[in-house]
Amino acid sequence: MIGCDCAVCRSTDPRDSRSRPSITVQCDDGMQILVDTTPDLRTQALRHDLRKVDAVLFTHAHADHLMGLDEVRRYNMMTRQPMPIFAEAATLVEIQRTFAYVFEPDAPRGGGVPDLRLFAIAGAFCLGRQLVQPVPVKHGPWNVLGFRFGSFAYLTDCNAIPDSSLKLLEGVEYLALDALRRRKHPTHFTIDEAIQMAGRIGARQTWFTHIAHELGHAETCASLPAGMQLAHDGLEIEIH
Ligand SMILES: [Zn+2]
Ligand SMILES: [Zn+2]
Ligand SMILES: [Zn+2]
Repeated sequence: MIGCDCAVCRSTDPRDSRSRPSITVQCDDGMQILVDTTPDLRTQALRHDLRKVDAVLFTHAHADHLMGLDEVRRYNMMTRQPMPIFAEAATLVEIQRTFAYVFEPDAPRGGGVPDLRLFAIAGAFCLGRQLVQPVPVKHGPWNVLGFRFGSFAYLTDCNAIPDSSLKLLEGVEYLALDALRRRKHPTHFTIDEAIQMAGRIGARQTWFTHIAHELGHAETCASLPAGMQLAHDGLEIEIH
């Protein structure tokens, strides 16, 4: 956190150095899916050598998940293809409002601005051979999406999961779930709430994400139940 001298912000453990929340999912057929375009996208892509993105999914349009969208133009340049963007209709409206210059009819295609093709999510869909199951969750007053890819589900930014979505999560074995901090928060699970929800979902392995600077990696992981840990930047998980 800018201007903070707390133990986590001063920590030399690289797992305590956190950029904004985003994942990529590499599918069996080589399809590479990016979930959210954070303000840190360029740094993340350079650090983790992300050379290929075939589609972008959005959970919601909050700034910490959206503001790196302009960086997608580099992937347009490399593939010479427009980038398919998948989000709920309301999120697409927000994206077009926030990045109005990208969608102006006379915007300079082919280098100046990203070339995006917008698709509204209305239920499960396929990207290549990968089934993508949207999982609606509550993020305070907002309805946002998590995503399930086979036995893995990514549920960032939430503090409640409706029963209808818990049904969509049946059989999930690998789970990434929002857990912001220990103190109560109006729009994110606390670590205790997340432990309880992770227990209900019952994945074999759960990684908590969207972690605030109150939670040090090593000491928090030591306090978590078996099968649960904190995620960290650069974490790679192999899903079967
Ligand atoms: Zn701090
Ligand atoms: Zn949010
Ligand atoms: Zn967020």
